[in-house]
Amino acid sequence: MTANSSHVDGARVLADLYALRAIGVYMTGVHKPTFSEPHLRSLDWLVQRLPQAGLQGEIDGIGNVISTSTKPGVRLLAGSHLESQNHAGWLDGPLGVIYALEAARVINGDPAINGAVEVAAWCDEEGHFGHFLGSRSYVGAVSEADIDAARDRNDGRTMRDALAAAGFAGRPRLQAEPGRHLGYLEAHIEQGETLESGGLSIGIVTSIVGIWQYRIIFTGEQNHAGTTRMAVRKDAGLALAKFCIAIDERFPAACGPLTVWTTGRITLDPGAPSIIPGTAEMLFQIRDEDPAVIARLEDLLNGMAADVERQGRCRVAVERIRTGAPAKMDGSFQDAIEAAGSACAGGRSLRMPSGAGHDAQTLATIMPSGMLFVPSIGGISHHWTENTNDADIVTGAEVFVETCRRLLTR
Ligand SMILES: [Zn+2]
Repeated sequence: MTANSSHVDGARVLADLYALRAIGVYMTGVHKPTFSEPHLRSLDWLVQRLPQAGLQGEIDGIGNVISTSTKPGVRLLAGSHLESQNHAGWLDGPLGVIYALEAARVINGDPAINGAVEVAAWCDEEGHFGHFLGSRSYVGAVSEADIDAARDRNDGRTMRDALAAAGFAGRPRLQAEPGRHLGYLEAHIEQGETLESGGLSIGIVTSIVGIWQYRIIFTGEQNHAGTTRMAVRKDAGLALAKFCIAIDERFPAACGPLTVWTTGRITLDPGAPSIIPGTAEMLFQIRDEDPAVIARLEDLLNGMAADVERQGRCRVAVERIRTGAPAKMDGSFQDAIEAAGSACAGGRSLRMPSGAGHDAQTLATIMPSGMLFVPSIGGISHHWTENTNDADIVTGAEVFVETCRRLLTR
C-alpha cells in the first residue's frame, strides 16, 4: 500500500464484495435480476452501510440508491449497479459501488479534504426492463409512459408491478440537482482481456462506444424445397447467409482499429425444412467510438444491400433501429485517473475505449464523467466464472480513492 492511499482498507473492500456475493449467490457468481429478492436485499444492504461513510441514502421510485452528504465543499458522484445479468458474475456492478462506498468512507471523514463523495447505485443497468432506466431517470430522460411500457424480459412482469411489489411505487424519482456535483466517477471490471494480456492494472476509459443496431430483411420467394430448381430459386435465407459472409469480407477495409460487429439473431420464414425461405431477417449491431466510422460502415451496408438487389433474386431492406451516440469521458478525469495510477499502481495503466455500455455514458450527458477499469481474468464477464484477482481489486480501490481525492482537491 502506498503513502497516497494509506486510508484505503483493502480487506474491508473485499469483505463488502464477498457480502454482496453471498446475497443471491450462484456457483461462484450471482443471480440477481432487477427487482428480484436478492437484488432488493442488496439495495437494503447498501442503504444500511451509507451512514458509515457519512451519507444519508434512500431507494427512490425507480429503485436507484441515491445518497447525500452534509459535509461542506465540492461533491463528487460515484457508483455503479447492484443487479446482475442472469446467472452471471459477482463483480459486474458491485465493484464500482463498493469502490464508491470505500472512497466515501475514506474521504468524507477526512477534515483535510473540503469535499465529499456521494454514492449511487443505478437500477437496471443490465437492462432486464429497459436500457439504463435508473441512470436515465436520474438525468431526466425517462417518462412515466416509459415506465408504464417497461416489462421484465425474463417473465413479462410489468415494471409497475415490480415497483409495487418492492414497495417503491409512489416514491419520487430522484433527479440530478444541477451544479451539485463536479462530476461522476465509475469503476468497473474490464469485461475484456486487454489489461490482463498487457500485464496492466488500470484501464482509463476514453469513451464508451456507440451502438448502432439494424434490422435487415431479405424478401425472396417462398416455394417447395423439392420441386423448385436451383437456378430459379429466390432463397431469402441463402441471400442472408451470403450477406453475413460479405460483411466479414468487406468491413475490415472500412472499419476502425477497434470496431466490432455482430449478427445476433437470424430468423427464417416460414422456417421449415421443406420450404425455401420467403423472407429472412437478421439483427445486426456495430460498435465503435467514432460516429464517422459507423457512418462509413452504414454506407457500405446500404451499398452491399443494393448489390444484392441488382442480382435480381431478393429485395433487401436495411433499417437502423438503434442509434447510440458514443460518450466521451472527460479529459481532466482521465488525467486524474492516470496520475492516481502512477501514484498507486506503478503507472501500469492504459487509455482505452469501453466496448460495453455503462451508466457513465448516461451521466456524461449532464456532467463531466470518468471511468476506470480493473482486469478481468481471461476477459470473461456476463458469466458466473467472471473474476478478478484480489490484489487487482485492492489496487483498483486505491487508484479509485486517490482519483476521487485528486478531483476533489484540484
Ligand atoms: Zn456492469
